[in-house]
Amino acid sequence: MPPELDAPDATRPTRRLSDLDLVALRERFRGDVLTPEDPDYHDARALWNGLIDRYPTAVVRPTGTADVVAAVRFARERDLPIAVRGGGHNVAGSALVDDGLCLDLSAMNAVSVDPDARRALVGGGATIGDVDHETQLHGLAAPLGVVSATGVAGLTLNGGLGHVRRRYGLSLDNVRSFEVVTADGEVLTASNDDHEELFWALRGGGGNFGVVTRFEYDLHAVGPEVFGLFVWYHADDARTVLRGVDDWAPEATRDASVLPFLATVPELGEFPESTWGQPAVAVLGCHVGGTAAAEAEFERLRDLAEPVVDLSGPLPYVELQSMLDADYPDGLRYYWKALYVDELTAEVVDLLVRYGRSRPSALSTVDLWHLGGAIDDTPPDGTAFRHRGHPYLVTFEANWEESTDDDANVAWAREGIEELRSLPAVSGAYGNFPGFGEDPVRSLFGRNYDRLARVKAEYDPENVFRSNLNVEPAADDATPAP
Ligand SMILES: Cc1cc2nc3c(=O)[nH]c(=O)nc-3n(C[C@H](O)[C@H](O)[C@H](O)COP(=O)(O)OP(=O)(O)OC[C@H]3O[C@@H](n4cnc5c(N)ncnc54)[C@H](O)[C@@H]3O)c2cc1C
Repeated sequence: MPPELDAPDATRPTRRLSDLDLVALRERFRGDVLTPEDPDYHDARALWNGLIDRYPTAVVRPTGTADVVAAVRFARERDLPIAVRGGGHNVAGSALVDDGLCLDLSAMNAVSVDPDARRALVGGGATIGDVDHETQLHGLAAPLGVVSATGVAGLTLNGGLGHVRRRYGLSLDNVRSFEVVTADGEVLTASNDDHEELFWALRGGGGNFGVVTRFEYDLHAVGPEVFGLFVWYHADDARTVLRGVDDWAPEATRDASVLPFLATVPELGEFPESTWGQPAVAVLGCHVGGTAAAEAEFERLRDLAEPVVDLSGPLPYVELQSMLDADYPDGLRYYWKALYVDELTAEVVDLLVRYGRSRPSALSTVDLWHLGGAIDDTPPDGTAFRHRGHPYLVTFEANWEESTDDDANVAWAREGIEELRSLPAVSGAYGNFPGFGEDPVRSLFGRNYDRLARVKAEYDPENVFRSNLNVEPAADDATPAP
């Protein structure tokens, strides 16, 4: 495990920029350049996941596409590894690289909405909260994730599961075009009409193909009010609740997306004090078909056992989108990993309940995302995102505070995932919940891998963008991309 962030290592980074290099960079780069000599350097290298402790040669904060081009060219001229940071929320910490250049896009977070065309142009460093803030002004939304501080870039390039996923699909299914800076420092637009193979690859292939400086999303009418499902039961009822959700799921409309999770009752005023700290199973969900339809469709899920508390009801979409924010503070220690499940067999339910009980940290959860709906409208080879057609994604979220508990928490999630993987009808991997990125990348892309490797060979033959779940460029003699 890396050492604590609060004890910086003066010997790192081992590679530093000379004064001449810095002058050359600042001549062509407008944004902030932070090196170890700057008082803000250690803040700039801190990520959401407090486990990650890397020392880049410099963190640069481009103000626009021209700065991104300048930074990529500068790094290549000096043979510096590159890492790209959108929202800095990927659990594996791939937004940072030791002894290289970190392109932190946080200053590029502008969002502009065309309500008539139902489109939004979104900077590569925007967060979900940045996008929701602007789009909800018009009662519109891009389908993104469920915590507002998450970056849209990593989320979208690797998939994107949110509260309206069954209605509108993955975040990446809603991208109309990308503006990308390639490894050569070229600025391209990838869409259905331009660089089509790159467009295919960017939708699921992560940060392998360049720096995305702008996303163009299709927007949909969502809110401003939606129905939030949030009912908590005691963990003794976990089997009944999970079974009940599974019975309900095949008939669910696309307007409803639900996410049961095993957790601990928080010490908050909304929960009866007598239940604080007890193990629980909660069913979180969203309905975008209006309150009456939501009440009718969710009725069964709110009566699966005697609830600890039922917090369900209509609420502003932006409120639902930020309801979980406080549960994921910056700097805590995190290890998240996921697998797709085709059938919620008794063995799977038993495993979820057991690991729900054996969580070493009360902050950790075992989550069951109900998928399907619009996610499955696109075939598995329609975009680089391979894993469609699975009704569930199981996620082990290990969340804890102390470095002395690192081993126990990582082991809990790893053992749970490996035991789950050994069961029938369990497969795949999700690039947004990748652990430390230690699993074979082919499990993420399956039969899409070879095509991705050919696109990589075309747009990044020297594998400049490799601080990610890395696709290696196909060899010269590989079959060319179609
Ligand atoms: C609190 C929390 C809640 C989450 N909730 C959800 C959820 O509801 N649904 C879901 O699907 N996922 C969710 N996730 C997972 C999340 O989608 C991933 O962590 C995602 O990678 C975060 O994106 P980011 O831009 O913040 O990541 P970063 O750490 O900044 O980047 C991750 C990687 O993405 C690539 N990248 C980032 N920006 C760019 C860019 N502009 N151009 C090219 N490559 C880039 C790089 O390879 C980088 O290493 C959540 C994560 C957290 C921490």
